[in-house]
Amino acid sequence: MIIVMQPNAEQQHLDKVVKRVTEAGLKVHLSEGKQRTIIGIIGEKRIIAELPIAAMSGVEKVVAVTASYKLVSREFKPEDSIIQVGGIEIGGSGIAVMAGPCAVESREQLMESAMIVKQAGAQFLRGGAYKPRTSPYAFQGLEEYGLQLLAEARELTGLKVVTEVMDVQSVGLVSEYADMLQIGARNMQNFQLLKAVGRSNKPVLLKRGMAATISEWLNAAEYILNEGNYNVAFCERGIRTFEDFTRNTLDLSAVAIIKTVSHLPIIVDPSHGTGLWRLVRPMAKAAIAAGADGLMIEVHPNPAEALSDGPQSLTPQNFEELMAETAAIAAVLGRRMA
Ligand code: PEP
Ligand code: MN
Repeated sequence: MIIVMQPNAEQQHLDKVVKRVTEAGLKVHLSEGKQRTIIGIIGEKRIIAELPIAAMSGVEKVVAVTASYKLVSREFKPEDSIIQVGGIEIGGSGIAVMAGPCAVESREQLMESAMIVKQAGAQFLRGGAYKPRTSPYAFQGLEEYGLQLLAEARELTGLKVVTEVMDVQSVGLVSEYADMLQIGARNMQNFQLLKAVGRSNKPVLLKRGMAATISEWLNAAEYILNEGNYNVAFCERGIRTFEDFTRNTLDLSAVAIIKTVSHLPIIVDPSHGTGLWRLVRPMAKAAIAAGADGLMIEVHPNPAEALSDGPQSLTPQNFEELMAETAAIAAVLGRRMA
């Protein structure tokens, strides 16, 4: 349920409502917008139904939220959320670009990648130190040493670091090095992990599960917000369908849907979304045109030598061209590359 306060409601009215709700043993989430404050209430339906809130001073209306996700919904927060990642915004008028190799492979490879993506205008360096590989014999990542290299690349370039955390035990360690925690497609419904990053103070990039519906994805984000972490951005990275020409089917309608039902920003990863480097540029342009707040792009100094995802990784030159092309689309929409 949400309680919509009147635009001119006084602080004392708000305090009284919050007191009444918390005394009933319910959890309160405040959304203080420019126009009015909205109070989200989470808890047992029966207790909520019995609360005589509508009659309290300062209350405009009480609305039942029927969807199973609440805090992520636009009903709870009508204005777009802007996520702050160490001074860089995701979700404002800018387009945030996260780029870099699939995996951190070596100091040389990472520093070179970081310089390339920085030069081309990205704000974030991506790169996995822990890799969720289909085969246990495939390169699994450099683990903590990879995290140290990411931090070193941040020192070198000023780029923010986004990297995947695969399990609950590693949340603390990855948080020491990363600016933003990535939840990968394979972990989108790892509810313990979602709760753990929800308790951390780092912004979270929540990738869509490869067979997840949009409603399941929204509920996954709800787990994180429900633990108190509101700094969450979605990342559409393609879903598995009958089509096997591409690695996944990039669902760009998800961008428009998420924008309609949620206040959280959404970025698009056309690299995993297609699996084919030739499709990355056209799909990146389409993503921006569809309203995405950013892009995640795999870039490698030498894709032919990459230890993972070479076929979908852009060369430095292709990435530069992608940045120029997407900037042109962004400008048409009144947006800029952040
Ligand atoms: C990645 O971004 O490196 C990755 C493994 O992506 P996904 O979880 O979308 O497969
Ligand atoms: Mn990859």
